[in-house]
Amino acid sequence: MKKPKTYKINDTTYCMIDGLNRASIYLLTGKEKALLIDTGNGDTDLKAKVEELTDLPVIVVNTHGHFDHTRGNYLFGEAYISNKEAETLSRHNDPDWVVRLMTGELPKWARILFLRKLRKSTVYKPWKALPLPEEGYFELGDRRIAFFETPGHTQGSISLMDKENRILFTGDTTCSGVLLNLEESADVETFRDTLIKILQAAEENNVDTIYTGHTDSISNQEFLRRFIAHCNDLLNSRVPEEVLKSGISKQGNTTLKFKPDMIRKK
Ligand SMILES: [Zn+2]
Repeated sequence: MKKPKTYKINDTTYCMIDGLNRASIYLLTGKEKALLIDTGNGDTDLKAKVEELTDLPVIVVNTHGHFDHTRGNYLFGEAYISNKEAETLSRHNDPDWVVRLMTGELPKWARILFLRKLRKSTVYKPWKALPLPEEGYFELGDRRIAFFETPGHTQGSISLMDKENRILFTGDTTCSGVLLNLEESADVETFRDTLIKILQAAEENNVDTIYTGHTDSISNQEFLRRFIAHCNDLLNSRVPEEVLKSGISKQGNTTLKFKPDMIRKK
């Protein structure tokens, strides 16, 4: 297996990328320990890359339970993850289910083309899930990384705050296109409240760089404000009826897929 493509964010923070969907994996090093945020699709030798970057013991944490963020967990044996993600994890541990999910919207020719590659990247190998409370922190020596629950894309999604370096990691919660149309997603109102919570944390800590679960979307406070306004338009029916019924809404660079019957909290 080849190692994942890697780039340096700063002297103690790296981003690695793997998979067809360019999942982002982050390595944060402190004086005593390192923290690995997500483990990608499991189709690269992530462990060899991590060992090349640090000699420190590595703590692994998952932002949520989707296969493209947890598949490499087996390389490290265990990972911290919210136990609200247990059901999602068990669905995503089934390679056939993942293949159906990934190819469902593709035309037939593309499905065939991607199938072999996908199968290779969706093999599940076991690892131990360590429970996470709703909020807390990981102490890496001279670097403390706080985490807090940010439900939306999934109910047990978390975000992580590196106050000192003024960086936030939000998994799939603040990508330019957010999926709330999954079985495990929250409603639009909960997602809006999560965005407000993330924005407040960013403002309080003067954070303006937000790294997401897929490299192509690095976001910031302004992006969060636009996304909150977008959600408010949906919640207050300030979008055309067809949009509310279609389950997909676009405004500028924010796109939301949602379940039409789950706009507001029930
Ligand atoms: Zn996801």
